[in-house]
Amino acid sequence: MDAFGRKVDYLRISVTDRCNERCLYCLPEGYKGWERRADHLTAAEIVRIVRVAAGLGFRKFRLTGGEPLVRADLAEIARGMAAVPGVEAIGLSTNGTRLAALAAELRATGIRSVNVSLDALTPEVYRRVRGGNVADVLAGVRAAVAAGFERVKLNCVLMRGQNEAEIWPLVLFAAELGLPLRFIELMPLSRTEVLTEDNFLPVGEVMARLRERDSLIPQPNRRVGHGPAKYYLLERTGALVGFIGALTNLDFCESCNKMRLTADGKIRSCLGDHGELDLRPALRESSDDAALRGIFQQALRTKPLAHQFRDAYQPARPMIAIGG
Ligand code: SAM
Repeated sequence: MDAFGRKVDYLRISVTDRCNERCLYCLPEGYKGWERRADHLTAAEIVRIVRVAAGLGFRKFRLTGGEPLVRADLAEIARGMAAVPGVEAIGLSTNGTRLAALAAELRATGIRSVNVSLDALTPEVYRRVRGGNVADVLAGVRAAVAAGFERVKLNCVLMRGQNEAEIWPLVLFAAELGLPLRFIELMPLSRTEVLTEDNFLPVGEVMARLRERDSLIPQPNRRVGHGPAKYYLLERTGALVGFIGALTNLDFCESCNKMRLTADGKIRSCLGDHGELDLRPALRESSDDAALRGIFQQALRTKPLAHQFRDAYQPARPMIAIGG
């Protein structure tokens, strides 16, 4: 429990700050702040942190980045985590570009669920927003379904003027494959020029547009993973659509259950707050886990009540360097 009575049992682990895509909203153009490889946690260090976290009551874990699939030892990390007592669920967030080749191997590690980012289906739009090839991602999504993960979800970050016309085609695609699709409000975690008021598309507006085409039936009791999305079933298309109103939902942080671990070993108790605690000295200077436990507990005690995204927040680190 944190100081506000929230149960915090979900740790999102960034295994790298490298990525093979260049999303407008995640990686500022000309970004040079890459961590040195030696500063990235090793597989053994990540598994040790997971053991400490599980000992403190963390039960759900997610591997993310950067792009986790660019890390060659990702399967080793996931296998090590799956063997830790107390670890109940391991998820993966990926851009999907390398999933076609790796889905089956990753499924065998104990990873149970996969979230694939998919902001557009039209190749030119996808390339403009994310700098990659959507055909690779679609092959990755199909491979993840074929590999038998318990859950495969699609994530779309909303950007007015960029991918608005993709919203309905994405809904139809999600319905066709029977996969939950989540629309995420743009958060100020990249260059401020990209994240302007003009680019911001609130989830409420997307819901209103979807209502022009179909009825949205609230699914208040539907648990689809461990995140903050509010889900609706589109009556005729059959799509299950979630909305992550990080900026417009004023209750957004009320049930926050998360902490983050960056690829260079910092614990971040809130995505939208600059506070970080460094685990690396304790990790590298001692084999005793007591100091690591103490840092986790301090991070929990100082977890803020709410993010600061609505207060002209300036990210000290962009999303790519924190881990989504
Ligand atoms: N590379 C992987 C991927 O593409 O999913 C994992 C890391 S990525 C940082 C995790 C999630 O954060 C993705 O769904 C991505 O679209 C989302 N994201 C990144 N920057 C964002 C921002 N500024 N606002 C909202 N979501 C963002």
